[in-house]
Amino acid sequence: MFKEFIKKIKKYKRIGVISHIRPDGDCIGSQVGLSLWLEKNGFDVQAFNDDDVPVNLEWLTQYFPIQEFDLEKIKQCDLVILVDGNALHRFAHSDSWIDSMSAPLWMIDHHPDPSNEFDLQISVPGASSTCELVYNLYKEHDIEQLDTDAAKALYTGIITDTGSLQFDSVTPETLEAVADILKRGEFKPNIVAEQVFSTKTEAQYKLLSEALGTIKLYENNQIALMYVTQEMLEKTGTTNSDTEGFVSYPLSIAGVKAAILMKDLAEEGVKMSLRSRSNVDVNQWARELDGGGHKKAAGAWHPGPLEKTIEDVIAIGRKQLNSD
Ligand code: 5GP
Ligand code: MN
Repeated sequence: MFKEFIKKIKKYKRIGVISHIRPDGDCIGSQVGLSLWLEKNGFDVQAFNDDDVPVNLEWLTQYFPIQEFDLEKIKQCDLVILVDGNALHRFAHSDSWIDSMSAPLWMIDHHPDPSNEFDLQISVPGASSTCELVYNLYKEHDIEQLDTDAAKALYTGIITDTGSLQFDSVTPETLEAVADILKRGEFKPNIVAEQVFSTKTEAQYKLLSEALGTIKLYENNQIALMYVTQEMLEKTGTTNSDTEGFVSYPLSIAGVKAAILMKDLAEEGVKMSLRSRSNVDVNQWARELDGGGHKKAAGAWHPGPLEKTIEDVIAIGRKQLNSD
């Protein structure tokens, strides 16, 4: 998988590692895990993200710092590696950086249908996470380099991208990777789980209770929809990022094939997370709205207002159910 990558990377010195906007556990985990691998192998490495690291993942930056997206610094790199995203526009809020890049752009990712913008790509849509791929980089090169810091970073990405090893993207190879990561890292898995998952605030639960009241079922109870409005955020003193994980509630209703969480962000439009636990392909669903993701987990934007968004999104879902 990484043979060409390991051979070709030797001719570079200064390497930038970037993960996608609104980073999740797999972004930060793979970015830290890859940066540590590069550092161990003598490269001059810097990691960047155009958004802040979420609070429950900040602890990972003690192992490797993640800086603000600084185009001047990125332009000084002689190679840039993009992790956990399949198209360049996913890596910064504005596309303008792409034109000013002269260094080769490589990627390591597990989203389906990658764009052809990369100079070298490690694209494995069947993998549970980008962190599982970075684990393979260590394994194919020198597994002894996988120390506790890197192991914690990679474990974080694997558990966050697989719903704690519950999704159908989990394979025997994923569990073998996890077993080896835990053995080599010499840490207890609950240490990471505590930091990543047990960080909820009382305000988040107030928001969740408001959001649960909006759950509505469509298309013979096959689609469950839940939403969060600006008023709910204001009333509970929360922000948009406090909805992390909410979509799993409508998704776990018996008989539901797909669930959607909509966040009405007023003038910005409506941001949504789509999830499937059936053959319904939410990547295709999101693509009809110019979004994307995976078959079972995807995201997209709609200009709003909320009522119109719901109408349009359910209409696309109806088509998906019929073609299922
Ligand atoms: P989430 O719903 O957790 O934000 O995202 C689920 C998956 O969909 C992730 O793999 C994420 O990268 C992808 N995704 C979320 N929002 C968007 C979007 O607006 N555009 C694209 N292309 N992918 C998205
Ligand atoms: Mn991922």
